[in-house]
Amino acid sequence: MVDECEKDIRRCFDAGAERVSIDFTEGRLANKNDSRNPWTGRDMLQDFIDLNNRVLDRFSADERRNIGVHTCPGGDMDSVHSKEVPYEKLLNHMFKLNAGYFLIQCASEDDREKVYRLCGENSREDANGVAQVCFLGVINPLSPDVETPEHIKNELVTAAEYIPVERLGATDDCGFSPFSRDEKPRHGSPDFARDVAMQKISARLEGARMASEELGV
Ligand SMILES: [Zn+2]
Repeated sequence: MVDECEKDIRRCFDAGAERVSIDFTEGRLANKNDSRNPWTGRDMLQDFIDLNNRVLDRFSADERRNIGVHTCPGGDMDSVHSKEVPYEKLLNHMFKLNAGYFLIQCASEDDREKVYRLCGENSREDANGVAQVCFLGVINPLSPDVETPEHIKNELVTAAEYIPVERLGATDDCGFSPFSRDEKPRHGSPDFARDVAMQKISARLEGARMASEELGV
């Protein structure tokens, strides 16, 4: 399995991908005692981290700069599977993955400052030769409300109190999935969801630009 995962990642780079992100949505779910997913009660987070590190260890520090990990509590059909699991149960461990960057759901959290603090405390300047960049989620794809650039800027400026700016970035909480027939109950039609997604991405770019200006980077 490790061989095949390595092959997948190398083929993405060979095909021209600048970055390859590994979906780790099972990370937070692993801490949930969910009767519908019996494996979740087996305390397997560390096993997942060890297994993913076996894949990451196949790559040099230079390559791992562009190999990242995405975490979220689920995002299909405007719904979640593990948002009720305390985030620290994941964030206290996730950065042991020797990845170069992390795409971290955060916009939909009630206590976002706590997430910034946990990322600042746990992300590493040196993960086997690579500095870990935290891309914090500033956009919630589960909601049709479009975030303002001002709001996004303020979130990033707050995050910068906890995370060094050279290791801080902005992302969306998860994929948008408003392709053609994905059900987005809170959005109405996929066409509407697609338009909303574009507005949200534009707001993120503008908010990140404003934050860079304010932070002088
Ligand atoms: Zn996701």
